[in-house]
Amino acid sequence: MDYANNILETIGDTPLVKLNKITGEVNALVLAKVETFNPGNSVKDRMAVKMVNDAEASGALKPGGTIIEGTSGNTGMGLALVAIARGYKLVCVISDKQSKEKMDILRAVGAEVIVCPTNVAPDDPRSYYSVSKRLAEETPNSWYVNQYDNLSNSQAHYEQTGPEIWKQTDGKITHFVVGVGTGGTISGVGKYLKEKNPNIKIWGVDAYGSVFKKYHETGVFDENEIYTYITEGIGEDMLPKNVDFSIIDGFTKVTDKDGAVYTRKLAREEGIFVGYSAGSAIKGLLQLKEHFKPDDVVVVLFHDSGSRYIGKVFNDDWMRDRGFLVSDVKMAGDLIKS
Ligand code: PMP
Repeated sequence: MDYANNILETIGDTPLVKLNKITGEVNALVLAKVETFNPGNSVKDRMAVKMVNDAEASGALKPGGTIIEGTSGNTGMGLALVAIARGYKLVCVISDKQSKEKMDILRAVGAEVIVCPTNVAPDDPRSYYSVSKRLAEETPNSWYVNQYDNLSNSQAHYEQTGPEIWKQTDGKITHFVVGVGTGGTISGVGKYLKEKNPNIKIWGVDAYGSVFKKYHETGVFDENEIYTYITEGIGEDMLPKNVDFSIIDGFTKVTDKDGAVYTRKLAREEGIFVGYSAGSAIKGLLQLKEHFKPDDVVVVLFHDSGSRYIGKVFNDDWMRDRGFLVSDVKMAGDLIKS
């Protein structure tokens, strides 16, 4: 018989899929690491398990304890799977710009969800950083995960995601392009790949309204770069410890509109139904096309599933309200006129 002993054993070994249409203008082989195939439908399952394993080993998380995290949803899902398998309680503190689907999914897998306002500074007592820290202090036998500064996050990608990509490309990868939020994915994968071959270029995809690109280029933390944006999962208004700027060759920024439009294109042109930051990642890759040569092997990572954005990117009204809809929808009135 061939079975997993529990759902956690099915994490990882996600497929690498050639992109055929959306990358028409790119002169290189472009392969997508599709992280939707993880049981929690995102790359975050990997680091959730690693962070819990390390917290158990260090004694920070004890039997029957409560896991507390400020999470945009995907990390919460990963943590929920570990919490169920190992008998922990889970409290997720989430910002109100996140999709309702993400909140519903977290509740479905038994997490308690607390919603905080997006438009407040990280040190404001209502911010999800502050609320999650306070809950961790007040809840007995609890462990605050802190995915931003907890280096088990990037270590998970150094131990697992990076080696998978290296093996799947037979060591032929030349560029890695990926959205950056906590920095765990880019830093862990990038460190592993550069140890294998220092010539591999590591590109981060950032959001307008985030500090990463400017900081990487100038070393200046510029508060003028910070404003509210719609894209979920990438960009930050602070510098997480998991972002290792030294292994990153450059950043490119993608607009909210382009990210949304390209998320839809991935579904329609490639049949790859992935989340908003995947649209940003592929658009970022296209923006970098002059860096690629015909023999290059460019890997882009898609973090999560399109199902979490049904009410947003994949909803015509939501897209139209933001001016993101590009001649995609026929209205009944148009048909009558023509
Ligand atoms: N995309 C999505 C949808 C995410 O949830 C995250 C995690 N914040 C990222 C991209 C960025 O990944 P990382 O935190 O590893 O930088």
